[in-house]
Amino acid sequence: MTATATATAKTTAYTYSFKEGDGKNKKLLGGKGANLCEMTQIGINVPPGFVISTEACLNYLETKNQELPAELMDQVHDQIKTLEQDTGKGFGDADNMLLLSVRSGSALSMPGMMDTILNLGLNKATLPGLIKQTGNERFAWDSYRRFIQLFGKVALGIGDEEFDKPFNAIKKREGITEDTDLSAELFREISDIFLDVVRSETGKAFPEDVYQQLQLSVKAVFQSWLGKRAIDYRREFKITADMANGTAVNIQTMVFGNMGDDCATGVGFTRNPGTGENVMFGEFLINAQGEDVVAGIRTPKPVHELTNEMPQMYKELVSLRDRLENHYKEVQDYEYTIENGVLFCLQTRDGKMNATSRVRTSLEMSNEGLITRNQALLRINPEELEQLLHPLLDPESKQAPIAHGLPASPGASSGYIVFDADRAELARDAGEKVILVREETKPEDIHGFFAAEGVLTSRGGKTSHAAVVARSMGKPCVAGAEGIDVDVEKHTAKIGDTVLHEGDVITIDGANGNVYLGEIDTVPPKFSDELRTLLGWADEVATLKIMSNADTMDAAAKASDYGAMGIGLCRTERMFNAQDRLPLVIDMILAKDKVERQAALDRLRPIQRGDFKDLFKIMSPRPVTIRLLDPPIHEFLPNEKQLEQEIEHLKCLRDTVNGVNDLMNTMQLLKRQADVKELPKPFAPGGRELVDSAIAKKQQMLLKVRELFEVNPMLGHRGVRLGITYPEIYEMQIRAILEAAAECNKDGFDVCPEIMVPQVCTGKELLWVREIVDQVHADIEAQYKIKLKFKFGSMIEVVRACMRAGRLAEIAEFFSFGTNDLTQSTFSFSREDAENKFLPLYEENNILQDNPFETLDVKGVGRLMEIAVDWGRKTKPDLKVGICGEQGGHPESIRFCNHIGLTYVSCSAPRVPIARLAAAQAKLTEKDYTLE
Ligand code: ADP
Ligand code: MG
Ligand code: MG
Repeated sequence: MTATATATAKTTAYTYSFKEGDGKNKKLLGGKGANLCEMTQIGINVPPGFVISTEACLNYLETKNQELPAELMDQVHDQIKTLEQDTGKGFGDADNMLLLSVRSGSALSMPGMMDTILNLGLNKATLPGLIKQTGNERFAWDSYRRFIQLFGKVALGIGDEEFDKPFNAIKKREGITEDTDLSAELFREISDIFLDVVRSETGKAFPEDVYQQLQLSVKAVFQSWLGKRAIDYRREFKITADMANGTAVNIQTMVFGNMGDDCATGVGFTRNPGTGENVMFGEFLINAQGEDVVAGIRTPKPVHELTNEMPQMYKELVSLRDRLENHYKEVQDYEYTIENGVLFCLQTRDGKMNATSRVRTSLEMSNEGLITRNQALLRINPEELEQLLHPLLDPESKQAPIAHGLPASPGASSGYIVFDADRAELARDAGEKVILVREETKPEDIHGFFAAEGVLTSRGGKTSHAAVVARSMGKPCVAGAEGIDVDVEKHTAKIGDTVLHEGDVITIDGANGNVYLGEIDTVPPKFSDELRTLLGWADEVATLKIMSNADTMDAAAKASDYGAMGIGLCRTERMFNAQDRLPLVIDMILAKDKVERQAALDRLRPIQRGDFKDLFKIMSPRPVTIRLLDPPIHEFLPNEKQLEQEIEHLKCLRDTVNGVNDLMNTMQLLKRQADVKELPKPFAPGGRELVDSAIAKKQQMLLKVRELFEVNPMLGHRGVRLGITYPEIYEMQIRAILEAAAECNKDGFDVCPEIMVPQVCTGKELLWVREIVDQVHADIEAQYKIKLKFKFGSMIEVVRACMRAGRLAEIAEFFSFGTNDLTQSTFSFSREDAENKFLPLYEENNILQDNPFETLDVKGVGRLMEIAVDWGRKTKPDLKVGICGEQGGHPESIRFCNHIGLTYVSCSAPRVPIARLAAAQAKLTEKDYTLE
């Protein structure tokens, strides 16, 4: 224990030396602080320092007048004393000064969200000391002017442009473009100007007292937690107080990457975060400090060039990278500085990467033995896999790129050019797709990233702000496209002789760095072998099976490619809606009697049979669950208003047709009178009859629509109720299903149809349909002379069905929870009305945490499901139970489904990969699952 901890044992400890802080306690020390402690303690060369805890921040933010906790500055004093002892330097001591960096860092990394102050401790008195100590006047003045600007910006709230303007003016006056060409004399002049800027902007002189500097900085870091940027970021990424609350402050001895050519600063990833490849990855700048690499002010060099420039340092860097990965067992994103040939690590954190690279690194780290397969599965957020299903630029496109930059974040996108983040937001709100084009991006551009489809910068490298943020959001980014000359003020970008304006369309490809004029076609993505392998591991671990909802061949093919283990829901009404079937369906509905209806059904059956055969074959030998007709049949007819209007129009047309006929008759008379030689062609003969029969048909439809009218169709004549009132409809569908199965069998396909009845409330309803099924089944076995296997089951989507699950399980071999309807009936909300009228307000005010139609309401609907599973399995222990509502593809809902022992979840095809991974994670973490 240090002196601090002992002295303040009675009061709260707000500060922790890197040597003692608990590297696991990110909530208290922030991610950066905890890792600085951890690295220090495992022997990595970290400049000494200490952490001020998030607790101190929260206390500060709670005080009315924003005061630092009373004991804090005392503890800071003690820590600095220790630092002085450890380094043999003095804070504010002109002869041998200790300079500090003040860095923020909360529990979750929020890149570029809060500002860092470097070189703290410089003032007029200590500056000569620095010059003497380093023998490098230029370096000292450079450090000084950086400090004034950073401190001015962060602690005193002065805008960067106030400093940038005079700075650029001097460069211009001297005809200098590179900062490295500025002399000591010029830096001195700049420092003086900067001090004036501070005086005129704040009305006070720049603080000379080093402890005052420190105290103001700590406050500023605390305050930044409530800054707009930070709040926006937390909102966008749904970071709750639970996950990160307040920021810690890290106070650390400065090391200098800008003291000469044996110095450098750089950032690296232990693997390539764009592709996942296991290679050294990163960028550095010789003779530079701090943010120079990330800010994109100078374009940094790729790390492998360090092999020539500083071969020994490169070796040490490789070994640093290996140590970091071996210790953290995770891809690391690290920052380092080389000071006169000595390598210091300044930061490490878990690397943010896109889905491609997350999948690849999971696979490879597990194959390398760094992590287990289970860990490999757990380190991927299932939702991220959606990125892999994004389209790619059509490789057939012959268009030549107009510019080329660094492939900073893969994916392709097109949109209108905008040159600033605010415009991007406006355009997005107006429904436009935009590409944000900047010279470089800064943290304050964050809202532009949210709004844009992709980001293009003309400066900066693969670890620039733009690249890092775009990657973390999975958005395409091309960085450092130096051929582009961006003029933000004029809102133009020049490429050679071409001038692009705001509103021009471009396409960027973040996978290869190409920039194209106009919009380029895209093609669907390829499902990588790595993902296939990984999801294969997931399937081995998971108990839940993943099925897909699919009604078309396209959807089934996609589902199959994505690894669906069958079709969990095929909605037959979707098949009815196709152009060539709807007239038949309408005939069936309009039928005056059973005979007419049967005639229409006889024409529909072969069509349905064909559809089912296709689905069975593509999924063979996996099960295909077909739901018998569910919606009220008037949904297949136009609505009343529309029909009335059409009839009106037809009646007008009849008048016109009559008029034309009358004209024809009159023409005969006219002709005799002389002048008219050529008669116009008469209106198509029979036109009148055609119109009359059209009117009759529409009137018949109108009558039917009126007859079928229901006050509340959702609770009306639908589902199994239809099957009972029109048994011939269900019979046709059942026959089509079983005939299709029989024919597939004959063709050598092993198929497994499952017939599912919707909207069941009572056992009797189910029995009624079961009898038809058994009858048809017997018919078909006799007709085809084969044994046909199939399953018969019930949707569970009304509350009574849950309560009667034990009885229903006597008749059904499987249950499938239709959680859309079950949610409606449990809440007594109609979905459309709820989502349009009051649900948003409910969510906003936390009356309901989530929209229950998107995230399964585990506490209410879930409870019913649990009971139904329980009672159902009491009757039939091997009862197969699944869920086919929309929520079935959401990782959180999947955890719950795993928890209550469902057999499968069924979701839309594009969510199948997500669900497969989520099911494995649900299994791996099931012990920790709690329902409060
Ligand atoms: P961020 O949260 O934006 O990554 P950091 O706290 O890491 O901010 O600081 C930004 C940069 O400042 C670092 O990348 C590093 O280059 C520089 N820096 C921070 N602390 C020190 C230090 N003690 N010595 C030298 N450079 C430092
Ligand atoms: Mg920063
Ligand atoms: Mg950093």
